[in-house]
Amino acid sequence: MRGVVLHAPGDIRVEQREDPAIVEPTDAIIHVTASCVCGSDLWSYRGIEAVSGPTPMGHEYVGVVEEIGAEVENIKVGDFVVGSFYATDNTCEICRAGYQSSCVRSVLMGEMGTQAERARVPLADGTLVATPSEPTPAQVRGLLAVSDVLGTGWFAAVAAEAGPGKTVAVVGDGAVGLLGVLAAKQLGAERIIAMSRHADRQKLAWGLGATDIVTERGDEGVAKIKELTGGLGAHSVIEAVGTQESMTQAIHSTRPGGHVGYVGVSHDVALNGLELFLSAVHLHGGPAPVRRFLPQLIDLIMSGEIDPGVVFDLTLPLEQAADGYRAMDERRATKVLLVP
Ligand SMILES: [Zn+2]
Repeated sequence: MRGVVLHAPGDIRVEQREDPAIVEPTDAIIHVTASCVCGSDLWSYRGIEAVSGPTPMGHEYVGVVEEIGAEVENIKVGDFVVGSFYATDNTCEICRAGYQSSCVRSVLMGEMGTQAERARVPLADGTLVATPSEPTPAQVRGLLAVSDVLGTGWFAAVAAEAGPGKTVAVVGDGAVGLLGVLAAKQLGAERIIAMSRHADRQKLAWGLGATDIVTERGDEGVAKIKELTGGLGAHSVIEAVGTQESMTQAIHSTRPGGHVGYVGVSHDVALNGLELFLSAVHLHGGPAPVRRFLPQLIDLIMSGEIDPGVVFDLTLPLEQAADGYRAMDERRATKVLLVP
């Protein structure tokens, strides 16, 4: 099969990879209908994360089940399925508490490299959720967003306790931040402040439910949030970047007693203990347990209630994956969809 492989920073190739096969009786093999490039793929593409030889890429996927192992019961051949970036059993104590991304048996789907024609999905019964019917092309885009960026933005909004009467601020205008705006709106937030300096992303944020846009960053951005909230700060802040600046901005933008939902993959972030102590904010985040939200989010998309697929502003054939990485790296695209 054809698949995307990163050879060195900036060196993305689409090449022949070995076809996946059932290894464990709990595995499924899917034909990937659509995959995409993640903001987190850029860490290694840019050389910020080390690349130790040719690495298959991709952890977001939707597709059709082609083959199942002998012990798979909930998923059948021909099902259209959605899964998250962690394969999880969905039965252990951590899973049942709603933290599937920290499942005691979790496997990172990034190891499978889903930017490819096919993929092996471990723990298929716990990982995959079938759609009730064949999705339309627009729904396929939405379901692909659920696989990571919507599921992650949704968890961030839940972790930040977005809800009725709350003012939510969103740090980060990538696909996760933008879909955090959508999630906050769905959860009933009264006011949603998107922090973005890019005209195209501001436009998306307005469309997804933002009520205010703040273009300032760092201390100036914090001052602006304070100004918009009677000097107090937001009740709920979504952090969707993962840098020192964004995390500091998120904590400083939150009022005492408020909640930060942080989902940007943390890179060299150090928190000052005394500052954190005095801030009196709740911090909750980590790798999003997307699996917890899959049934609900699939319903919202299949019923036409939400359309998170709007974050895909560039669609390319899998063979042109290198162009897709470049476009995201240069911020010419928010989120690139790859069609095998
Ligand atoms: Zn588990």
